[in-house]
Amino acid sequence: MLPPEVMTTAQQEFLDYHGMGIGIIEASHRGAEFDAIAKNSEKLLRKLMNIPDNYRVLFMQSGGRGQFSAIPLNLLPEDGFADYFITGHWSRCAFKECDERFGKAVAHECLVRDEEGIYHVDYSKMEVTKGAAYAYVCFNETVNGIEMFDLPDTGSVPLIADMSSDILTRVIDVRRFGAIIFGVQKNVAPSGLVIAIVREDLLGHSRKYCPSILDWSVMNQYDSLFNTPCTFAWYMADLVFQWIDRLGGVLELEKRNIAKAELLYGYIDSTDFYRSVIAFKDRSRVNCVFTLKDDSLSSKFLAEAKEHHLIGLKGHKVLGGMRASLYNAMPIEGVQALVDFMKEFEKANS
Ligand SMILES: *Cc1c(COP(=O)(O)O)cnc(C)c1O
Repeated sequence: MLPPEVMTTAQQEFLDYHGMGIGIIEASHRGAEFDAIAKNSEKLLRKLMNIPDNYRVLFMQSGGRGQFSAIPLNLLPEDGFADYFITGHWSRCAFKECDERFGKAVAHECLVRDEEGIYHVDYSKMEVTKGAAYAYVCFNETVNGIEMFDLPDTGSVPLIADMSSDILTRVIDVRRFGAIIFGVQKNVAPSGLVIAIVREDLLGHSRKYCPSILDWSVMNQYDSLFNTPCTFAWYMADLVFQWIDRLGGVLELEKRNIAKAELLYGYIDSTDFYRSVIAFKDRSRVNCVFTLKDDSLSSKFLAEAKEHHLIGLKGHKVLGGMRASLYNAMPIEGVQALVDFMKEFEKANS
C-alpha cells in the first residue's frame, strides 16, 4: 500500500512534471530534474534514518534477491565463509543463494518451535563463528510474520541485514550494521528499486567477476547512475520520504505501527477462533500471520474479506493461512475494518 496523497501527487504530475511539459518517467535520468530527485531522496533518507556520514546510500535495481547475490560477491572472499542466522523464508533464501553459488555459508537455525507449536527466535543461537566475513540476518521475515527486536552481538564481524519489509517502520541504529539492504516495494515505492546502505570500509572488496551493476563500489563511484535506474520507483520513493518527513519522521510511524499491531493481535489473542503461532516477543508488527482454527473456513474467509475490500490477506504460498500486512501507509482505520470483519465472520461461523 502507498499513501493515497502520494499516489495523487504522482497522478497530477504524471503528464507534466513541474512544468516541463513531459512526465518524469520520460525525462533523462541525467537531466537536472531527475538529478534533483536523486539528491533529495538520498538527503531525506539520511535524515529519516539518521544515517552517519561514513555510510553510502546506493540506489540499485536487482531487487531483494539480487542483493542476496551482491552481498557475498561484495563481501565474501573466495576462501572465506559467512554466518547466516536463519529465522524464516527470506533468510533461508539468502543463505541458499550464497551457499549454492558463491561460497561457504554457515546456517544457524535460530527459529525454534516449542511443544505447543509456537515459534520463537532463539537469540542465543546467533553466535558468530570466528573468522566469518559477515553475519547475516533478515530483520523482518515477511512470510513467517517474525520480526527481530533484539540484535546479536557480532563484535567486529559486520552484521548485514535485509530490512525489505520493515524499513522505516521503526527507529533503528544504523551504526549497529555493516550494511542494510531493502527492496522498496513493501514500504516505500512501487517495485523496481533496491537500496543498499553500506559502511564505507566494506566497499572495494568485491570479486573480480562481480557484475558491475551488483558491485557496491561501482555504484558508489557512479552515484547510483552507472546504468539507467528505475526512475519511476526512485521518484515515488522520494515522494514517500517527503510524506514520512511531513508526518514527523520514523518515530511517529513507529507509534502508529505499534498501535495497529496491538489492535490486531489483541483481537486474535482474545478469541479461540483465530490463532497466532508466533511467540509474543517475536511477532512482526508489519506482517501479522494468523490461522483460522478451522482451516476449512479459510477460502470462505478470503472470499468474504474481498467483498469487504480487504485485499491481500492470503498467506504466502510456502506457509498458508492468513497474513495481514500493516505497512506504513495502512491507516489504523484499515486495521479496524479488518478486525470488525473478523469479528463478524467469527460470529457467523462459530
Ligand atoms: C519481498 C522480500 C524480498 C524479495 O524481494 P525481491 O525484490 O522480490 O527480490 C526479500 N527479503 C524480504 C525480507 C522481503 O520481504
